[in-house]
This record gives sequence, structure tokens and C-alpha cells, in this order.
Amino acid sequence: MIEDDLSTKLRLSKEEMQQYGYKIIDHIVDHFETQHTKRPVALASRKEMDSLLAEEVPNHPLPPNEVLDFVMNHIIPNSNIVSHPKSFSFVPGPSNYISVMADTLATGFNIFSGGWASSPAAAELEIVTMNWLLEIFGFPTKKGGGIFTSGGSMANLTALVTARRIKCGSDFSKATIYLSDQAHSSNIKAIKVIGFKKEQIRIVPTDIEFKISLNKLKNIIARDRLEGLQPFCIIASAGTTNTGTVDPLEEIATICETENLWFHIDGAYGGAAILSNEGKKLLKGIQRADSLTVDPHKWFFQPYEMGCLLVKDHSWLSSTFTEKPEYLRDIEGNESEINFYDHGIQLTRRFRALKFYMSLKTFGLESFKKAITYNMELAEQTEAILRKSKFWEITSPATLAIINFRYNPIHQNLSEEMLDQINQNISKKLIASRDALLVTTILQGQVVLRMCLINPRTTLVDIKNTLEKCEAYGEEQLLELSN
Ligand SMILES: *Cc1c(COP(=O)(O)O)cnc(C)c1O
Repeated sequence: MIEDDLSTKLRLSKEEMQQYGYKIIDHIVDHFETQHTKRPVALASRKEMDSLLAEEVPNHPLPPNEVLDFVMNHIIPNSNIVSHPKSFSFVPGPSNYISVMADTLATGFNIFSGGWASSPAAAELEIVTMNWLLEIFGFPTKKGGGIFTSGGSMANLTALVTARRIKCGSDFSKATIYLSDQAHSSNIKAIKVIGFKKEQIRIVPTDIEFKISLNKLKNIIARDRLEGLQPFCIIASAGTTNTGTVDPLEEIATICETENLWFHIDGAYGGAAILSNEGKKLLKGIQRADSLTVDPHKWFFQPYEMGCLLVKDHSWLSSTFTEKPEYLRDIEGNESEINFYDHGIQLTRRFRALKFYMSLKTFGLESFKKAITYNMELAEQTEAILRKSKFWEITSPATLAIINFRYNPIHQNLSEEMLDQINQNISKKLIASRDALLVTTILQGQVVLRMCLINPRTTLVDIKNTLEKCEAYGEEQLLELSN
């Protein structure tokens, strides 16, 4: 006999759904209101998580609230709070409430954002918001195009598949690709995914400012041509993840034009800085790229997952990704009605444009500009504080809201080895306290601390408190050393 209770249809009663939903909204709102009072770092081993969470497939139903309470008590608290004001590492995820609700709507209505016919408004909204981004970055709005992806990694991959197809056609056995030693690892990953061998990848050294060395770049390209290889693409960084450094975009654009190479810019975290006056200057030339990755889930304050690829000519995407299977025959439509499954890798796609649209409409671009400008200034103020202090040394100055520094008190004459160890331990101790998320990176062989200040909730007081804690940890170690 077929049972007719609600659970057979995976349903709740109307009242249950409302109560359940309101409860979740209350939890989310409470989180937005109180996150700064929580600790941003979650520390748990596999063993601890196993003992908390591992279980057999649950066969029988449980009351919805029981499951929800368990999640709220044990699962949510065991994750880092990436939107916490003292979450300084890696690249924070500041997010915003409107977009969280927009994502809830998009999921609630389960809107299929693959083809025009299944959701004309969703496709149109992706075109509209993409046009906003094209305009912001100085790309042509009629001819240009783009696609929202799960993140920067997928945007970089989508860009390279497109670049390979447009520049190399079907034979890329001799193609070579160029990027700096500071380029994000997702680029190398993407290059490997598209089937390039190690011998086809050129990692170009950077100069003392962590910019790609133009002379070395030109020399390597010339040498590859002499050897009968086919240079086809340069990847520049517009905001390296380590130091926020922007490669010399104008010069690279010119090289790409004269050499007939594809110019891809990875501006995943840093691209958004174009909305500040200072950032706009640093990103000069960004509009000359053939393709540009930006990550709205970083500095455009969107919740995960949202990346974006912009291209100069939208037909590059359709000619790279269009397949015409018989089962999609009925929904092909005309050319102006874009099927985004023809512009990228995914067929079934969530409705990412909605959160970008709703948050921009609600807050206005002006608010985004202010937030990004605030972040840029915050990093500069942090640099000023560090420069004045006798404990700290700047390794890489505030650039696109990233700053690198290390504990190196004057008159101590500590060896490089000791400095590495002390700075590593400062980060370790801070993380163990769970009070702030601040990790190290390595620059020119030195272990340094790195702050990425793209969260508008972060204040100078948060930074000062964190630095004081770090100084105390540093001092502790100096005492240990002198004993
Ligand atoms: C974060 C980042 C990426 C990867 O983006 P995901 O959204 O994490 O996939 C790529 N490039 C740069 C420069 C980044 O900062």
C-alpha cells in the first residue's frame, strides 16, 4: 500500500514549514548581529568531528527541529567565521544579508539558470548584471559578455578553455602559456585540467615588488618562438593573493597585442578595487584584457558561491561551449536569448545573478564604492601604525587592502631563522587562542604575517587589538630565547 503521509513526499505541513523557516531566519539574523562577539576560528580534528558527526545512513524520520538544533549546536559552530571582523586570512568572505536572502529565494524557487526558455528573467538578469560589470571594468557592453561561475577557479578555467579554443583551435600541442610565480594556484590547476604538459607552462619570476618581470617575460616568449613553439596566452594578476600586487597591465596588454597572444587577467579578489579611486589607478589597463576573472564572493560582498568571467567578445564563449544535443533541440531559441549553458561548462546552474542584482539595487553602487574605499584606507592606516611601531617591519606595503609584515623589534638583531620561527609562532598562538584568524605566507624567503582587509566590518580597533596580542606573543618568545 502506498502511504499518503507527508514524509513520503518529503513534505512538511504549512505551519511546520513556516515555523522551521522563521527559526532559521532568526538564527541567521542573530549571527549577523552577534558574529563579532564570537570567535572566528574553528579548531577540530578529524577524530573529534568523527566522534561528533559520523553515523550510519538515517533510515527513520526525526522531528525537523531536532535535526536543526543539532546542526546549530554542533555543525555551524565548527566552521570558521569568514565574515568575522578579525578574520584576516586568507581572503575573507564578508557577505551581506540581502544576498543571503536572495540566495534563499533562488534556492526556494529552485530556479534553473541554464537556458533562456526555462527562466527568461533569470537569463535576462544575468545579461543585465553582466552588463553592469562590463561597464564597471571598461569592457564593451554590446560585444562583450561573460558568465557567473561557482568561483574564481572555475572562471579561470572557463577563460583558459576559451583562450585555447580561440587561439589554438584543436591542436595545442606546441602552445605555451605564461604566468608569474605569484599567480594564483587555480591558474596552474586550470592549465593542467585543460591538458597542458609541464613543458608548456612558463612560470615567470617576479621583481622585488612581486610584479611579473617584463624583460624575462619577453625573453622567454622570444626563445619559445625560436624553438618553434606557439606562445598563446599570458595570465596577469590584478591583485596577487599574497601581496595584492597588480602586474603591469598596460605593458602586458601591448605585448599581447604585438605577439598576438590572449590576455587573461586574474582579478579574482582584487578586481573589485576598481570601485575606489586608488584602486582604479592601480588597475589601469584592466580593460585591455581579452578575459577577466573577478570573484563577487570576495570583495563584491556576495556569499559563496559566485565567481565571474568577463570576455571582450561574447561569441568567443558560445563558439567554445556550444554543443547541440538533440534533447536540448526544442529550447534553442534565437541568438539574443542567451542560453548560459552555451557560454560555460555547467548545464544546470543556480540563479547566481539574483543576489548580485538584489544587493546592488538595495544598497546602490555608491555603498559598494564606499565599502571598498574604506577597506583600502584601513589597510593604509594599518601600514602607518606598523611603521610607527618599534616591533614591526613592513614586508609589502598596503596594496588593494592586503598588507604583509613581520615582528622584528629594533635593536634585537635576531637571525632570519629566529624571525621566521617567532612569526610562525605568533600566528600559531593567535590561532590557538581562536581570537583572530591571521596566518603567515612566505615572501622572498621570509615568514611574514598577512592581513587581507576586505571586510567592511573590520575596524582599526580590531586591528590594533590583534597587533597587541601578536606583540605579547612575540615578547613571550623573546623572553624564552633569552632564558
Ligand atoms: C581566490 C582567488 C582565486 C580562486 O577563486 P575561488 O573563488 O576560490 O575559486 C583565483 N585567483 C585569485 C587571485 C584569487 O584571489
